[in-house]
Amino acid sequence: MLTSFDAGLQTVLDALLQARSLGADRRPASAESLARLVNARPAPCALQADPLAALREIVLPCVKCEHLARSRTQVVFGVGNPEAELMFVGEAPGADEDLQGEPFVGKAGQLLTKIIETMGFARGDIYIANVLKCRPDMPAAQSGNRKPTPAEMETCLPYLKEQIAIVQPRVLVALGGIAMQGLLGAVEPMSQLRGRWHEFEGIPLMATYHPAYLLRNQSLGEKRKVWEDMLLVLEKLGREITAKQRGFFQPKGE
Ligand code: URA
Repeated sequence: MLTSFDAGLQTVLDALLQARSLGADRRPASAESLARLVNARPAPCALQADPLAALREIVLPCVKCEHLARSRTQVVFGVGNPEAELMFVGEAPGADEDLQGEPFVGKAGQLLTKIIETMGFARGDIYIANVLKCRPDMPAAQSGNRKPTPAEMETCLPYLKEQIAIVQPRVLVALGGIAMQGLLGAVEPMSQLRGRWHEFEGIPLMATYHPAYLLRNQSLGEKRKVWEDMLLVLEKLGREITAKQRGFFQPKGE
């Protein structure tokens, strides 16, 4: 049940999201800006101390997409280091994520964790979120996952924008074409989007294949493409790259 505190938080966040969507404020939520939005009353402590946790409290009960609110087990907000320099963005939770409440915990998620570790990070160093925070609903008696619709992604995008504004990563990685569509409206095939820099809200954005694509296409060549994208990310972050790392997934003899 919504308390008056929750309702107050919702009002503040709605105003903040609206201001940002109008381009009025591109900075992360500050206690001052939030206080201004609530008629100069002090911002709630939770917002000052941990804006990501405060945003989470607002997103978890979201019912903007009524059909998804009805079908989901829970909202899958995001996970990881609130001060991460690198943030991965996927499309939407699948069945495993819907059950566990954490993005990328199924088979594709395990592969993403391997990619992160091969880059020299721990999963907990990174921030991971999806464009859509609810599992797309499936027709009765059908298993599997469906892709989020553009309308669903547009409805949910302000939450991701807010997460990005709070975390302020130095680099974003979009996992798959749907994530690129949700973030930038890009509809080109991933073969044309990957391997080069895009920008989202002023932050360098790399596009690469979704780990689920790699699970379906296990060729060394496709793995190498994703790895080359990750080498570009490491270079952008100024991370040292070992010769061993440079050589991963290289066809023999090259
Ligand atoms: N695929 C996604 O895009 N996101 C998840 O969280 C899991 C699978």
